[in-house]
Order: sequence, then C-alpha cells, then structure tokens
Amino acid sequence: MEFLQPHSWQEALEAKAAHPEAAPILGGTDVMVELNFDHRRPGSIMDLTRVSELREWEEEDERLRVAAGVTYARIIAELGDKLPGLAMASRTVGSPQIRNRGTVGGNLGTASPAGDGLPPLYVSDAEIELGSTDGTRRVPVTDFVTGPKRNLLRPSELIAAFHIPKAEGPQQYAKIGTRNAMVIAVCSFGLALHPEQRKVGACVGSAAPTPVRARYAEGFIEGILEERDLWESREEIGETTLRRFGEMVEMTANPISDVRGTAAYRIHAVGVLASRSLKWAWNEYRDGR
Ligand SMILES: Cc1cc2nc3c(=O)[nH]c(=O)nc-3n(C[C@H](O)[C@H](O)[C@H](O)COP(=O)(O)OP(=O)(O)OC[C@H]3O[C@@H](n4cnc5c(N)ncnc54)[C@H](O)[C@@H]3O)c2cc1C
Repeated sequence: MEFLQPHSWQEALEAKAAHPEAAPILGGTDVMVELNFDHRRPGSIMDLTRVSELREWEEEDERLRVAAGVTYARIIAELGDKLPGLAMASRTVGSPQIRNRGTVGGNLGTASPAGDGLPPLYVSDAEIELGSTDGTRRVPVTDFVTGPKRNLLRPSELIAAFHIPKAEGPQQYAKIGTRNAMVIAVCSFGLALHPEQRKVGACVGSAAPTPVRARYAEGFIEGILEERDLWESREEIGETTLRRFGEMVEMTANPISDVRGTAAYRIHAVGVLASRSLKWAWNEYRDGR
C-alpha cells in the first residue's frame, strides 16, 4: 500500500489529482476500523494530519469556517458558545480517545446516517467546501450527503471545511443509544432556534438513509410561534403543541429495523426526542439565553 503524506493543502490537492484512488485519512477512527476488518483495501492512503490548514477555524462576520480536521474535542473546547448544538453532538461521540482524533470532516467523508456531527450542520444550513486542483466549490450539506455512506465527493476532491452561521439562538442535540457512552445512535435529533429569522431548524438522524430535515414539523412550529406571537411574548409553547411537533417529526422518519433497534421504536423515540428538545430549547429562549 502506498502511503502519501502531504505537508500543505496545495500538496494534498496535487497528490489527490495524481492519485484519485487514494483514501484520505484524518483521525482514522473510521478508516482504520475498515482496514482492520478488511472492508476496504485502498491502493494508497493519504495522511492529511500534517496539513495545518485543515486544523484551523475562523470567523467570517456572523459565520464560521471550520476546517475538516478540527477534532470533536476542539469543537467542544473552542466552539461551544458559537456552535452549541454541534458541541452537544460532539460530546456524545465515542470516548475521549475518539473525540481527540475524530473530526467532522471524517464524519462527512463517511456520511453515515448515524453520524452525530451531521444533524447540527443540517439545522443551520451549513455548506461543505470541497477543493481540488481545479478550484473550490461549496454545496449545502443536505445535497452533499446523497445516501447511506454516500456523498457527492469527486475522486479528485477533498473536503476542505464546513461553513456555518454562528448560533443566533438556543440549540439542542439528543441521541438515544443502547448505553450512555461509546455508542452509535439508535436515533438522534438536532434542533436550532433562529429567533432573528423567526425560523426553526429540525433534523432527524439515524432513522432514514441520510439525516433528514423535518420540514413539515418546522413549518408547523414556525406557524404556531408566529400566530401566537410567542417569539415576542416568550410564553410557554404548551404540551399539546410540543407533542404535535413530535408527531410531525415522527412522520419524517423512515428507519430500518436492525441490531440497534426496530423501526417502530426509532419512530416513537425520535418523536419523544423532538418534543423534549423543543421544550429545552424554548425554555432557554424564555430565560433569555
Ligand atoms: C470506538 C468508536 C466509536 C465511535 N463513535 C461514534 C459516535 O458516537 N458517533 C459518530 O458519529 N461516529 C462515531 N464513530 C465513527 C468516527 O469516529 C466518526 O465518523 C468520525 O467523525 C470520523 O472522523 P475521522 O477524522 O476519524 O475520519 P477518518 O477515519 O480519517 O475518515 C473517515 C472517512 O472520511 C474520508 N475523509 C477523511 N478526511 C477527508 C477529507 N479531508 N476529504 C475527503 N474525504 C476525507 C476518509 O477517506 C474516510 O472515508 C466511532 C468510531 C469508533 C472507532
């Protein structure tokens, strides 16, 4: 197996153009498992850990550009106030060792419907920056993930970064697993309140072939908040509406039954997570947080 180790982003793009079959590796927490189980045997591996440009994040007005190689541990430590939903999701990933190595770039590369980094990107309309020697393109994350473990990365491209607005309101991420740590989501749910835009982002994880925006439920709750003037009054949403929101999120789920849970359980559970997440986020909003 050939081992490539570029030392800059430009070198990495040139190496990928010359070796389009090369498998990139950042934290290696997915790649190494695949190699160890012989699920994948690439002719060459491209280690991206020496590319310092992939470890940076920066603010661009009200948005952030977070390079693909920023680890979950750093997102928790450095971006918790700006991206609280992603930081919450990052805390649920694996173990300290996995969070020290694993990256959102790798989560996007794997594109698993259970990827914990993905729903927080969906609810804030993040864009993924892809690079090649031909230039750069940005695609909405909802278009980037095309199916279970499939994305629209071309062989000559690498994931450079994701672009995401800073949180303008409370965010939540909730996950159900068979135990509390080191667990792949049975199902999950991400939520972001966007008070300035009077919008709510909601996304179901691990209950369909890709993460899915719960558009119908979003429209429902946005309508209620507007109609009852709740963004202004900050009064309670009410249990019936919270439950109805959960039921509408359930309609988004299209899960399979597998070793981790049945389809029926996932549908029910995702509705419960949705009602609770909305309640928690709304309580934060009411408290002015
Ligand atoms: C014990 C254990 C527990 C885990 N728990 C969780 C969990 O709770 N939640 C969760 O979501 N995941 C979990 N995972 C999976 C994994 O940690 C995550 O998917 C992580 O985000 C992968 O990041 P990485 O940097 O290690 O990716 P890598 O393994 O380096 O790469 C992953 C994929 O992305 C591709 N890739 C990497 N970088 C680039 C790039 N710049 N451009 C293009 N393609 C690229 C690789 O070729 C590969 O296909 C777990 C894994 C293990 C081993």
